Amino acid sequence: MSKPFDFELERLTRPSSYSGMSRGARIGPRGTFFLETFGCQMNDHDSEKVAGVLLSRGYRQVETPEAASLILYNTCSIREKAAQKVFSRLGEYRAKQSDGKVIGVLGCVAQQEGEQIFERAPWVSLVCGSASYRKLPEMLAELEAGNHRVTGLDTDTDETFETEVTRRDNPWRAYLTIIEGCDKACSYCVVPYTRGPERSRASDSILKEVRQLADLGYSEVQLLGQTVNSYADPTPRKMRFSELLLAVADVPGIRRVRFTTSHPSDFMPDIVEAIESQSRLCDHVHLPVQSGSTKVLRAMQRTYSRDEYLEKIEMMRQAKRPIAITTDIIVGFPGETEADFEETLSLLDEVRYDGLFSFKYSPRPNTPSLAMNDPIPEEEKSRRLAILQEKQREIQTARNTALIGQTFEVLVGGKSRRENQWSGYTTSHRVLNFASQAKELLGTYVQVRVTGAGPNSLVGEHVA
Ligand code: SF4
Repeated sequence: MSKPFDFELERLTRPSSYSGMSRGARIGPRGTFFLETFGCQMNDHDSEKVAGVLLSRGYRQVETPEAASLILYNTCSIREKAAQKVFSRLGEYRAKQSDGKVIGVLGCVAQQEGEQIFERAPWVSLVCGSASYRKLPEMLAELEAGNHRVTGLDTDTDETFETEVTRRDNPWRAYLTIIEGCDKACSYCVVPYTRGPERSRASDSILKEVRQLADLGYSEVQLLGQTVNSYADPTPRKMRFSELLLAVADVPGIRRVRFTTSHPSDFMPDIVEAIESQSRLCDHVHLPVQSGSTKVLRAMQRTYSRDEYLEKIEMMRQAKRPIAITTDIIVGFPGETEADFEETLSLLDEVRYDGLFSFKYSPRPNTPSLAMNDPIPEEEKSRRLAILQEKQREIQTARNTALIGQTFEVLVGGKSRRENQWSGYTTSHRVLNFASQAKELLGTYVQVRVTGAGPNSLVGEHVA
C-alpha cells in the first residue's frame, strides 16, 4: 500500500510533540544532534525515543548534520541494499568528523557489524544496537567525556527500551513499541540476531503511556512489535494481546488503535473477536505470509503451512465486519521453483489482499538461509517480482474500485499545495485523497465519499 501524501504536500504545520513524564525537560547547552533513520516503523520509533533521551540530557535537535555536534545514524540491515547504504553514508560523514563532530551508528547494522565499523570507518565514535538503547545515557556520558570508541552491542537482555521523554514526529498518530526482539527463527531474517530475544513491555506501563498520549491530544495509537501478537505481559496481570488491544481502545480520547506486525502462528480467534467487538480497533490486519508454497515456508522456517495460514485468513473473512488484509512476500528464496512461485500467485488469487509489500530474497549475514544452495539468478527474481506485483496491482485496483460510492472516516494527515486537496487514512489503512472547501482539516476526522480508485489510493470528496 502506498504511503499517504501521493501528491506534493506542505509541511505539517503543527509542531512535533513530546510525551512522557518529563515533558518540561531542560534544553541545555550541551550540544546539538542530527538523527537520520532508515528502515521500519520500529526503527522510526526507536529514533523518537533516542531523540527523547538526548533532549532530556539537554541536547537540541537540528535539521542538518552541518548544524550538529553529534550525528547519529539509525540503520537497517533487513536487505543488502539498505546495509550497503550505511557505509556510503558514513563516507559522507567522514569530513564532518574533522569539524569536531561526534558520529554514531545505531540499529541493526551497528549490531551486525559491531566493532568492525571502527575499522572500516575510524571516524565513528559510537556503535550501538537497539537492544542496548537503555544504556544510552551512560554511553553519551562516555562520549561527552571524550571517549572515542563507545559500544553497546549486548543482546542478552530481558529489558525493553523505555524512555521518560519521547520526541514524536507525528502530532496525531503515536507509535508505541510493546514487544521487542524476536524468538522466531525465520531462516532469512537478521532480526533475532540484531534485536535480540523477545521481551514484552509491562501492560500497566503501556496503558499509562497511552493515557499520557491521549492527554497530549493523540487520537491514534499504533502498537508495534516484530511479532506484536506474540505479546506476553510480564506483570502478574498476564494480559493477553487481545485484552491489551481492548484496554488501549478504552482509554478516553483514543479513537483508533492499530497494531503491526502480526505473526500468523500466534494470530488467534480472540484477536478477531476483539476487532469485531470494538470499532476503535482498526479493521486492518497485516499478516505476512512470505510464500504460498508450504515447501518454501518450511525452508523459511515460518512455522505454518499454506493451509494453516489460509485458516487464519478464513477466520478474518468470517468476522462480523470486513477486515482489510495486507501481507509481505519474498520471491526467489533459495530452492523456490516455478511451481512454488505459481503457488504464491494462486494464493494472491485466493486471498485477494488489500495491499502487499514484496521483495526479492536477499541473503543476509548470520542467517541460516545464507548456507542454502540453489540460488535463484537475480534476473529471475526480478521477473517473478514483476509478475507478482502486476497481479497484485490488478487485485488492488479491483478491490479499491468496488469501494466507489461508499463513505469512510478519514484521519486527515496531509494537505496538498493544490487548493482544497487533502489526504488521510481510512481505518482500513487506505490512502484517501479528497477535495474539501474547509479551511483547516489537519488532524481531524472527516467523512469522505469515494469517487474514484487506483491501485494504491482512493479519491473522494468531503461529505459535510
Ligand atoms: S518473525 Fe521471522 S521475519 Fe519476523 S522478525 Fe522474527 S525472525 Fe524475522
